[in-house]
Amino acid sequence: MNPLGFLKDELAELKEQGLYRELKVLESGQTPRSVIDGKEVINLSSNNYLGLATHPKLIEATIKATEQYGAGSGAVRTIIGTMSLHQELEQRLAEFKHTEAVLVFQSGFTANTATIPAIVGKGDVIISDSLNHASIIDGCRLSRAEIKAYDHADMNHLEQRLKEAKDQGSGKILVITDGVFSMDGDIAPLPDIVELSQKYGAISYVDDAHSSGVLGANGRGSVDHFGLHGQVDIQIGTLSKALGVLGGYVASSKDLIDWLVHRGRPFLFSTSHPPGVTAALIAALDILLTEPELIDTLWDNTRYFKGKLEALGFDTGKSDTPITPVIIGEGSKAMKFSDELFNAGVFAQGIAYPTVAKDKARVRTIVTATHSKADLDEAIAAFEKVGKDLLVI
Ligand SMILES: *Cc1c(COP(=O)(O)O)cnc(C)c1O
Repeated sequence: MNPLGFLKDELAELKEQGLYRELKVLESGQTPRSVIDGKEVINLSSNNYLGLATHPKLIEATIKATEQYGAGSGAVRTIIGTMSLHQELEQRLAEFKHTEAVLVFQSGFTANTATIPAIVGKGDVIISDSLNHASIIDGCRLSRAEIKAYDHADMNHLEQRLKEAKDQGSGKILVITDGVFSMDGDIAPLPDIVELSQKYGAISYVDDAHSSGVLGANGRGSVDHFGLHGQVDIQIGTLSKALGVLGGYVASSKDLIDWLVHRGRPFLFSTSHPPGVTAALIAALDILLTEPELIDTLWDNTRYFKGKLEALGFDTGKSDTPITPVIIGEGSKAMKFSDELFNAGVFAQGIAYPTVAKDKARVRTIVTATHSKADLDEAIAAFEKVGKDLLVI
């Protein structure tokens, strides 16, 4: 008997439900026009917002650091895997974020699964937006604190949850939200979240994965966007999206960073970034500071593309950012829409239940600073054709 035989049934069930996924393969760099499964298409599904993943300055920094220090770091941070480059990146990020200190993790995912269980546990309560990212959900579960979800961005519901938590006992309360929500592209109502957290003595925590390099001056994130410096207790960001490489960071007080050095499990038990990754990230920070016009171009392209989609009659939901969903409705239709777009030379991922509500299936688009107007016009023409063929517009 094959003890893994049950997987055949599980996989068959995924196929039956239309949830089985073949991985698309990128055969070029992560560029505005990419080769995907052998075909050159306009890529509208990358998180490479500013084009830094393929930026010559990052590539050069990677090569130089690799030549100087080697391909790998050879240890976890707490043994002998803390290189001078890691330290430099953290100091630079702390200055950039205007916080006392920063700690870098292997990814945004591990930043959340490290930090949440390090600050709350049994007897504490986490109050979490219902649309928060999977890594927040996993971090919450690992903590063994009680998890109370509040309806997405609903401040009355958040306050109700805070009252419940207060009435319940004396444990810590952690309020946690994405800064920008990855499926709808809306921005969390951070000023209200901060005010309510302060009112109830809760710790506030924002995950700026999709806002790092996108929102705020020089891409400093949602706290800067709302002018809330010093008011959010813990900021998480990713270095894998707009910053173009790989990693996650926690920006907060010196004490929290010190605590995570002792209690952030991925920091203690998983190897640190290779020097090439770290050096590229320092170069990425330099670019945010010296070429902020890249971020302006990102927003110009976003307004241009969104405006054209809306003028054609597409439903782009409530997005405030470069993440623009084109809501189609039924899951199978959204998948067909994505397939037809691909045939017409555009890649935009179809997303259906259970990732989004059953009647809100969509293709999700992200324009970048490196798309030309010609790329965007061509993409819009493909959306118009497919939208008319499938009677979406
Ligand atoms: C993408 C994302 C992450 C994970 O970041 P990685 O660096 O890719 O691991 C974490 N949180 C949110 C909100 C994200 O969107």
